[in-house]
Amino acid sequence: MTSNTTAGTRPASAASVDILRDLVSFDTTSRNSNIPLIAWVEDYLANRGVRSTRVYDPTGTKANLWATIGPADQAGYVLSGHTDTVPVDGQDWASDPFRLVEHDGRLYGRGTTDMKGFLAVALAKVPDMLQAPLKRPIHLCFSHDEEIGCIGVRYALERIGDLAPVAPVAAFIGEPTSMQVIVAHKGKHNYRVVVTGKPVHSSLAPAGVNAIDYAAELILKIRDINRRFAEGPRDEAFDIPVSTAHTGVITGGTVLNIVPETCEFAFEFRMLPGISHQTFEDEVRSFARDVLEPRMKAIDPATGIVIELVNGTPGFDTDLGSAVIPMAKALAGRNDHAKVAYGTEAGLFVHMAGVPSIVVGPGSIEQAHRPDEFIEMAELGRCERFIDRLIERCC
Ligand SMILES: [Zn+2]
Repeated sequence: MTSNTTAGTRPASAASVDILRDLVSFDTTSRNSNIPLIAWVEDYLANRGVRSTRVYDPTGTKANLWATIGPADQAGYVLSGHTDTVPVDGQDWASDPFRLVEHDGRLYGRGTTDMKGFLAVALAKVPDMLQAPLKRPIHLCFSHDEEIGCIGVRYALERIGDLAPVAPVAAFIGEPTSMQVIVAHKGKHNYRVVVTGKPVHSSLAPAGVNAIDYAAELILKIRDINRRFAEGPRDEAFDIPVSTAHTGVITGGTVLNIVPETCEFAFEFRMLPGISHQTFEDEVRSFARDVLEPRMKAIDPATGIVIELVNGTPGFDTDLGSAVIPMAKALAGRNDHAKVAYGTEAGLFVHMAGVPSIVVGPGSIEQAHRPDEFIEMAELGRCERFIDRLIERCC
């Protein structure tokens, strides 16, 4: 298919589109190894004389890739993005999700907006970076397993001192923000709860311990916390200006005439930056331990409630006086900023590496994770301008 853009000229460079085509062709759903894609990027960089470093996860089947262009002994800027994508399972796509399709100024394919489009532009700009007389380096940090809890980048950030001997000035995380400058996001902590009851025939219900009933009481406790969150504190700069608590999945029981032995559910906290989830996690735990379990164990000591923290990603909130904000706005060519409720690797760059971070990237979050995911070519073009200006700044 051909592009049909109103301006008559292609808003994105052929290089960005060609690289995106290659990146999309790798099925880097988080459950798969991302090594084939990483090897492709390594080759691309090596062919242009850029050395890169793999940072493996403990299984050795996945890796982050770090590369530095320009003088490594100076403080520079990080362009960071994840290589993994969400699955296409159960989604109804009009075309093959792993083949880039261009139509009406849009590029369709899994990961086009979240976030291989950003990776493609960053790579397409490498020749320009190499030609420019950079006085500060530009680092590329391509991670894995972001979609399942910002797992991968932690391994790279543990080694940031080796990868970037001089601490970077700032990191730009290229998640799809339609090139809006995001200066804060919430923290996110998610939990799995297993309630173990005592099964008996339902006609003998008082002799059993109903796992679903106790799970329900705990879920109402979480709902009560959410109600208190709604009363404040607030930060009106966020799309959702309060912290939130939410239960998202529940399973339990087998048949109606058996008191259910197990009930499992998952819940999350999304906290405004600066507000600890710990107080509320403790509240849930102590309600389970001090109120619910004594009643359960009075009937059968083998019953109980296990609460497991599955994943925690810190929030971040860049100081509005920080020089990185006006700089990001100048690079993006716009004057506004926002705060968002979804988590990114920015919180980890801030908390693990002490690197001030901004989330800014091409494409809209509206298209992320959806069937027929696409990115506007014009968005890639805007991201190209962003990196052009960054290169100028580094000279
Ligand atoms: Zn993403």
